[in-house]
Amino acid sequence: MAACGMKRTFATVRSYKLWTATLLIVLAIEWAGMVAAYAWGFWAHRRINRVAVYTLPPGMLVFYKKHIDWVSEHAVDPDKRRYSDPEEAPRHYIDLDRYGSYPFDSLPRNWYEAVSKYTEDTLKKHGIVPWHVLLELRQLTKAFREKKKWAILAHSADLGHYIADAHVPLHCTSNYNGQQTGQRGIHGFWESRIPELFGEEYDYFVGKATYLVNPSREIWNVVLESASMVDSVLALERQLTERFPADEKFTFEMRNNQSIRTYSRPFAAAYQEMLNRMQERRMRQAILRIGSFWYTAWVNAGQPSLAELADEPMPEELRLRLEAMDQAWRQGRPAGALSDCHD
Ligand SMILES: [Zn+2]
Repeated sequence: MAACGMKRTFATVRSYKLWTATLLIVLAIEWAGMVAAYAWGFWAHRRINRVAVYTLPPGMLVFYKKHIDWVSEHAVDPDKRRYSDPEEAPRHYIDLDRYGSYPFDSLPRNWYEAVSKYTEDTLKKHGIVPWHVLLELRQLTKAFREKKKWAILAHSADLGHYIADAHVPLHCTSNYNGQQTGQRGIHGFWESRIPELFGEEYDYFVGKATYLVNPSREIWNVVLESASMVDSVLALERQLTERFPADEKFTFEMRNNQSIRTYSRPFAAAYQEMLNRMQERRMRQAILRIGSFWYTAWVNAGQPSLAELADEPMPEELRLRLEAMDQAWRQGRPAGALSDCHD
């Protein structure tokens, strides 16, 4: 009986081990799938920050080119940070339609005036991207003034992300994923799937960064442009869906050994043409504006010589912060309650 009991115990241990191993494999596959899903959205952010470097004047170009891989790789940090910082989510969008109709004149462009009219809670609920871009601009200017290499790099990467997000029409409406109009999924389709499919063919020669006399007006113009494009983004997808063979709109693709349902290439190509290549146009505008915001920060800081910047190693505090951010992101639980569709 004892032997039988022991055997059963061994069998239980063996099946427990097997079960644990199976669970770990399943979790690993799920994690890989999740990372891949986010990585699609990451492609455009990385490309945008990378190309923005080439808009800079020689005095900045030397420094940024040296660190181009870092500035590109960390273009996605703000999206990752949403998993560790509950304050992060509203920095990526603004639901302008919550404030009436275009051009949303009832919404003060000045942060303090907007807070006193609507309260900070309401503003954060509907997204704060234009104000956060201006905050990042001030922080980058300070970093240039203090000649802090790692602060310059981190704020450049972050600023690039938020400016790029502001160029996406679906980051400027409460119907951000077509959920109010039966078009769920359009967010990732517009900003991730299409650049992933066709982005290598886009023309990234956008000219030189220029000094922005009024950065606030510039970023508000960006979100107003985005808001004015929302109707086309939604209406044209609806029109195309009506005339496209229903069984050809979606396809299945293998990602990390998983079959994933996604918009088909012919549907994506037709949509892109109907939009007159809007994704390419918005990526180009984002690139030029990012370069111009970086340049403006540098000029406002008195054009410090970047060639002289000490080649200091990454501060321990930043290294630990990035490590914690990556770890929380891999575990995949967004901090805060806001939707994850405004990436
Ligand atoms: Zn984002």
